[in-house]
This record gives sequence, C-alpha cells and structure tokens, in this order.
Amino acid sequence: MTLDGTLQLLRPNIRNLKPYSSARDEYKGTDAIFLDANENPFNPPYNRYPDPHHTRLRQRLSEIKGVPASQIFVGNGSDEPIDLIVRCFCTPGRDEVLMPYPTYGMYEVAAETNDVAVKKVLLTDDFQLDTKAMLAAAGANTKVLFLCSPNNPTGNLMKQADVMQLLKDFKGIVVLDEAYIDFAGSESFISKLQDFPNLVVLQTLSKAWGLAGLRLGMAFAHTDIIRVLYRVKYPYNLNVLTQQAGLKALEKPEQTAEWVVALTEGRRKLIDRLQSISVQKVFPSDANFVLVRLANARKAYEYLTERKIITRDRSSVALCSDSLRITVGTEEENDALLKELGAFLNMDLA
Ligand SMILES: *Cc1c(COP(=O)(O)O)cnc(C)c1O
Repeated sequence: MTLDGTLQLLRPNIRNLKPYSSARDEYKGTDAIFLDANENPFNPPYNRYPDPHHTRLRQRLSEIKGVPASQIFVGNGSDEPIDLIVRCFCTPGRDEVLMPYPTYGMYEVAAETNDVAVKKVLLTDDFQLDTKAMLAAAGANTKVLFLCSPNNPTGNLMKQADVMQLLKDFKGIVVLDEAYIDFAGSESFISKLQDFPNLVVLQTLSKAWGLAGLRLGMAFAHTDIIRVLYRVKYPYNLNVLTQQAGLKALEKPEQTAEWVVALTEGRRKLIDRLQSISVQKVFPSDANFVLVRLANARKAYEYLTERKIITRDRSSVALCSDSLRITVGTEEENDALLKELGAFLNMDLA
C-alpha cells in the first residue's frame, strides 16, 4: 500500500483530531523555573509530569533497534498500541479486524471493546497462515490485520513469505506482534518498515528484557502513523518511574542477550526432556514457552497446580486440544516441572 492509501484508512475524526496540548508540550527544556503546569515545587523528581514524548527512551530504542526515534511509539505495555491502533483505524459498528486463530487474545478484546467486529481464519494444521483464506475473508471495511510471530500460544514463527504476501496484498494495516522475536533467531520485520507504510511491528520489554511488571510496549511504524498514535494516547501514558527504569534496563542489552541465551538453551533441554517422559507431542517453539500435548491435559494441569507448578491449559483453544503451554523457567523450575509431570504420566500409565 502507498502511504497515502495507508493514511486514508484512518477514521475521519482521528485524521482531523487536534491533540490536547499539555504545558510540557510548549517548553521542552529541563533547566528553567517551571510555573506552567500547576505542579508542586517540592518532592522532586516525582512532582514533575513525565515527558509525554518519551524523548530519551525513544532515542535509546532508536540506537538499539536501528530505527529513527520518529518511527517509535512507547506505551503502557503492548496493550496500549493494540488498543490505539483499533481506535485510530476502525469506526465502531462498521469496520472490522482480521486475525488468524488461535492467537493472542488481546487483539480480539481490543476490537470487541471498541465495538469492532472480528473476523478469524483458522491456522493450518502446522500452525501456519492460510494466506488465501485470510485474503478472501478481508473486505472493504477490514481495516487491520493482526499477526503474531512467533505466535502465542503455538510458539512458532510464521513463514516469512506468507507474512510478506499479506503485507503486499492485504489492503489495510498489518500489525505484526513480535513479542517473542528475541527467542526466535530470526530477523525482525522492523527492517521492512521502509517498504511497507501499512506495517506496524509490536515489540515489548515484557519478555526477553524481563520487565513485564514495568508495562513497556513498543510500536514501530511509518512516522505518520506514529504521529497519530502520539496524538491519541493519554498525554502522560508512561510515568516517571517507568521511563527511568526502562532507560536503565536499555543501557544493558548484554544482560538481555545473556538471558536469551540461557532461555533458548533452557527451551532446548526442556523440549528434549519432555520428549523423554513421553508426552504425546512437543510442538516446535521459537518463543520462551512450549506447547505440549498430553493424554489428559486438564488432569495434568490440576495435578501440577496442586503441587504449586502453574502452567496454562490451552485445551479449549482451536488446534490445541489436550495441550498445556509451559513457560521456560530457571533450570530448577524446569526440573521441578519435569519431575512432577513425569510422576503424573507414570501414574496415569499404572
Ligand atoms: C506477552 C505478549 C505480549 C506482551 O504484552 P505486554 O502488554 O507488552 O506485556 C504481546 N503480545 C503477545 C502475543 C504476548 O504473548
């Protein structure tokens, strides 16, 4: 899609929106006497409103990701850009979003909360995109396509050629959620942003960076889309503490790299050992979790929970019957899981 075509997809009221201008929008320096925002002069640094433009965070992210800061949005988890994209592009009661299933549940929740209809197309048996069916399902009011790669809860990367085809042929915004990309050993689609003005890549500090509690999600897209997200978001969506702690973590990418090595190695071992305790199937994973099929997943889930090992029962999800989603933990945590799950499986056989 062309940039013009992409921006035509915006809701008309959003295209014409004049954003709230906060006191901090007008004077951008830090070294001054601030009598503009009705702040309390005592109790620094929390007496001051946070930077609504996330200037330092985006500068640092720009260095790490190799994308201009103007192409980066930072929000309150990935949840915020997911919701903003639905609100900016979809007129309630009229427009719709498209997604494969099974996938991450937040896309559907964001759409339904906004009275935006959801069209879903089943993944293939090997959890890949049915591109033909997806394109056939898209209509004139299908504004946003959500893709997740590596996908949650199945754990696999989507084939790059399929994502490329959808990027070329879908006439709307393509949101590609790369929450787990650091564990995948495959290149991010951030490198394709120049070619596709309708592409929005989502990433997060919640997984590889170990900061789920901080709530810091990112969207990478064309400058014009990012500008719209900044106009629509709450002015102070990231508080002072979050911005400070995020910056501090981003100074140590080598720590994250170390964790990623440990977790991908942990995943390899976990998969091997799950296979050796004869679960029915361990699905291949490009993420920090594995999907496992067992004879009686619900019983296994309950058995593990009684022993204070909490997994996610995905048995009710399409294509995931009798399957648990298990996050890769520390070596000790993985050992404990394997011990108890092994005991359960032996008991069942007896
Ligand atoms: C965990 C996860 C996220 C991260 O969400 P945050 O709101 O950034 O914590 C995003 N997408 C998917 C598919 C996930 O599984």
